[in-house]
Amino acid sequence: MENSNLKLKRKMKIELVLFLIGFIIVSIKLAHIQFIKGKEYSLKAEEQLNASRTINASRGIIYDSNGEILAKSGTVYTVTLNPVKIAPENKEKVARILSEIFELDYEKTLEKTSKNVSIVNIARKVDKELTDKLRMWMDETGISTGINIDEDTKRYYPYGSLASHIIGFCGSDNQGLDGIEAKYDDMLKGKSGTISQAQDGKGSNIGEDGEQYKAPLKGDDLTLSIDMTIQSIVEKYLEEACIDNVCTDGASIIMMNPKTGDILALANYPDYDLNNPYTINNDELKNLWDTLESSEKSTYLQGMWRNKAISDTYEPGSTFKLVTASASIEEGLVTDIDKSGQFACTGGIEIAGVRIKCWRYYRPHGGESLRQALMNSCNPVFIGLRTKNRC
Ligand SMILES: [Zn+2]
Repeated sequence: MENSNLKLKRKMKIELVLFLIGFIIVSIKLAHIQFIKGKEYSLKAEEQLNASRTINASRGIIYDSNGEILAKSGTVYTVTLNPVKIAPENKEKVARILSEIFELDYEKTLEKTSKNVSIVNIARKVDKELTDKLRMWMDETGISTGINIDEDTKRYYPYGSLASHIIGFCGSDNQGLDGIEAKYDDMLKGKSGTISQAQDGKGSNIGEDGEQYKAPLKGDDLTLSIDMTIQSIVEKYLEEACIDNVCTDGASIIMMNPKTGDILALANYPDYDLNNPYTINNDELKNLWDTLESSEKSTYLQGMWRNKAISDTYEPGSTFKLVTASASIEEGLVTDIDKSGQFACTGGIEIAGVRIKCWRYYRPHGGESLRQALMNSCNPVFIGLRTKNRC
């Protein structure tokens, strides 16, 4: 009797221990689901429950100083599917028509129509012409449940490559990636809207309200100090000068209104097409493009997009003579800039044993006023100004 009692007690002890172990395992799992994975699962549940689509906001317009449009957003369409809502007998038909209209792989599209999710992307930023074809098919066949055609926006640059380094361009999500588009992205981008609909696990709508539409908010417009007429003249002559003088590294021009500091034109040569910013602007590279590594492509593209006029450093050279001349007037070294013969150019000047020549050393300028020296870009005069010597 005592023996069997002992046996029972031992058995109970073992059972209790096993139960405790089981309880601990379940508790750990529960804690894992609730506290560690909780956020992820609730997001997933929400995702399944709420099939919401984003409507991109139209970006603000970029104008030049005369109100010419440099960048604007046009209406395009984005097509998405809610696969769980498409009736099984329609999936093949839907996949067939979508792959035809948007030139997609049929098998991959069919796979998308069968996914157990509430939203899949089919075609982004397509023209109305194509979505009209789809709408017509939907009307004819009466198959429309689960197919969404939503308004979207696309950036257009009416002048193509003009002022490309100033304006910059946008990415596929309408985010500014370079130039003004990137710098003032917060201002230009606006606020996207949503179309949402609560659904159960099978994709049926919950509630009577239907789709909830939250309209996007258009971005603010921006007016630049750039004048497109001046900009296009500057670009034309910059290109000519670069070609005539074989400037293999390109060149830049900045034109400023000295009274206000407004930049009226800023150009780099070569430029690129803002409507196709990922197309390289060099024919030699264009031919090699498909053979390049992606890191090489990226380097070339970054180089093409770089606004050299403000990103690169270079010697100011003779443009600095303006500063020397201004300082000499301010410091009283020169009181009358038109006093003829105040300076004399003999073709060069010796500084610390080195003779620095005037560019017209072969026929020296002779007597000059400060204004004439500046007009002649005469090196010896400006070296002399610094040391208060006459040359
Ligand atoms: Zn000279």
